[in-house]
Amino acid sequence: MPAIWDLPDFDSHEAVHVFDDRATGLKAVIAVHSTHLGPAAGGTRFWHYADSQAAITDALRLSRGMSYKNAMAGLSAGGGKAVILANPQRAKPQQLLEAFGRAVDSLGGKYITAQDVGISEADMVAVSKVTPHVAGLPDQGGDPGPYTARGVFLGVKAAVKHALGTDDLHGVHVAIQGVGSVGGGLARYLAAEGAKLTLADVDAQRAADLARELGGQSVAADAIMAVEADVFSPCALGAVLTEASVAALKVRAVAGGANNQLATGPEGRMLADRGILYAPDYVINAGGIINVLRHIENADDAEINWRIDAIAGRLAAIWNESDSTGKTPAEVADNMAQKLIGR
Ligand code: NAD
Repeated sequence: MPAIWDLPDFDSHEAVHVFDDRATGLKAVIAVHSTHLGPAAGGTRFWHYADSQAAITDALRLSRGMSYKNAMAGLSAGGGKAVILANPQRAKPQQLLEAFGRAVDSLGGKYITAQDVGISEADMVAVSKVTPHVAGLPDQGGDPGPYTARGVFLGVKAAVKHALGTDDLHGVHVAIQGVGSVGGGLARYLAAEGAKLTLADVDAQRAADLARELGGQSVAADAIMAVEADVFSPCALGAVLTEASVAALKVRAVAGGANNQLATGPEGRMLADRGILYAPDYVINAGGIINVLRHIENADDAEINWRIDAIAGRLAAIWNESDSTGKTPAEVADNMAQKLIGR
């Protein structure tokens, strides 16, 4: 196993903390990528990993992602991420959550945690009994989904403007993959402005019901990326943009809320070569974190709204720079983010 500094995802993390609490069985990693702009903020993932190396790699990758996302959202927050290594039974007793809370607390506010995959609102409330360094609790704004959905909607509109040259969504066809909290909210905003919708979800009934309600169509989950449309909006899983799926796309733009859409990275160039506009995921899907971290900025609802509105302008700036330099939107966004965090 290589030393932690030599891991491909290390990327000069400021610190990587490893916790092993014998009494409760807690094994956790808290990765602090950058505190250049403020305390490192990012959720806690509770996951059963194949081995501890996989857990460290995940923490590093996600933590760097949070640095970029928070910086590009204009927040006074750095980037970090925690992972708790679940046992095969995925047991999550109260004592384990409290031990994790003590681990977060031991960093003295350098890392602020929040919900992520495998961690419920109630789990975070339990963590917050032990440490104040928790964001996004039910009484602080709660579910980030609706805020993310609004930001993604504004990003889709910006993509339509840049790729199709129109502000008018009437008849603009958007194919949405995944109609949960983010994709479902996006569909409603789009329907309200007259867009034509094709929806898909592994829960086919969910997609069909929403399509019926909004006057759109639904297709099988494995057919959505081949739909001929103006915009493809991934709002389910990450890594959906692969060499094969990009080659099969029949759209002018990809703009959606899912995290880590580019499977390996070079797909960003493939999209550009095919003339498909790409909205970098961590820029377009920042609405949720903008609300979750509202207390860091002391932001009221009006401020949260304008910060989410600013996502559209940020995307336009990325696309304009991409057009003038020949760099892909993903490269431009990464460069902007790196500059913001002083790298
Ligand atoms: P969700 O669980 O509410 O919805 C996801 C939906 O996708 C579900 O309806 C699920 O059935 C469906 N789905 C899963 N696999 C699918 C597949 N292969 N094809 C089609 N549909 C599939 O989750 P969400 O909160 O809406 O998040 C969606 C995506 O956005 C995730 O990638 C998440 O990481 C990302 N994201 C969410 C937020 C947020 O605030 N909720 C913020 C940033 C990023």
